Amino acid sequence: GDSKDVEEKPADSASADGLGDKVAKHYNEHPEGSKESRKESPIFHLRNFNNWVKSIIIGESLEKIKRVNSRDIAVLDLCCGKGGDLLKWQRGRIKTLVCADIAQVSVEQCEERFKELKKTHENRRYRDPLFEPEFITADCSKERLADQYQDKDLQFDLTSCQFSFHYSFESSEQADMMLKNACERLKVGGFFIGTTPNGYELVRRLEKSEDLSFGNDVYKVTFEKKDDYPLYGCKYDFHLEGVVDCPEFLVYFPLLEKMAEKYNMKLLYTKTFHDFFREKTKESTTLLYKMKALETYPPRQEGENLVSSAEDAYTHAKDFL
Ligand code: SAM
Repeated sequence: GDSKDVEEKPADSASADGLGDKVAKHYNEHPEGSKESRKESPIFHLRNFNNWVKSIIIGESLEKIKRVNSRDIAVLDLCCGKGGDLLKWQRGRIKTLVCADIAQVSVEQCEERFKELKKTHENRRYRDPLFEPEFITADCSKERLADQYQDKDLQFDLTSCQFSFHYSFESSEQADMMLKNACERLKVGGFFIGTTPNGYELVRRLEKSEDLSFGNDVYKVTFEKKDDYPLYGCKYDFHLEGVVDCPEFLVYFPLLEKMAEKYNMKLLYTKTFHDFFREKTKESTTLLYKMKALETYPPRQEGENLVSSAEDAYTHAKDFL
């Protein structure tokens, strides 16, 4: 894609309603891009690495859930975007899926992607039928999703919020609504999983920088000030070549953990991507095969060593992490 298409606006032009419109506009205007053009993208490896991380987290959580409830798994894909995780839900053989996102065009693309997936699913005559997702376009930091589900009593085994939770940290009310959406319909023993930028690392790099920004050829982060990091609304602009050009908010993780207590959530696991990679690649190849977590990365070829593929992606992605 070409981020130049995105209308340039001064950072302070947000409406009184906050930056949600700007975020939605950005994602709505960002074209999908073909598989081929994605391959040429300068962030090809970063994207693959991110996908690898997501695949493992999702695969592991579904495994845990299946030990207790082997059938009828229900998932909320909170801030689903264009449906980048649909394949993972198919492979996880879940039964029910709700996809919600603020950007209407992304939700439409997600629906299209689902239709394609459904065609291949039917052609391959899988034993299990594919889920029929419910699609919701909503600002999940302002609207209560529970009011919108077709099945008013719907409950989830898993909520997955990938690379998105930080958008809600614009205000405490928004972060709380996002958490409410993530957690209030979880079954007892259900999981909330996600990936989000590392607030400590962002601040560390900012403090090291001579001005208010840091990055490289591919990404750039620009803050408005240093030495003052409010718990909510600590905005920075994130630019990722051809993919993202959007205001985001710093997340102070212990605060998120504390806020989640209100929804009876307890922190089980948190790791940086670096540590996560080291931990997962230390586990044996057989385990990785068993989880099928790596199946989506990269497009599998006969006899390929999955662990070294992940290492390859990590090596290339490391500069940006
Ligand atoms: N989860 C997807 C994935 O991993 O491919 C998409 C990640 S993308 C980096 C961030 C997504 O968050 C975008 O699709 C954006 O529209 C969505 N988003 C941002 N703020 C949101 C909000 N307040 N409510 C719902 N979705 C939001």
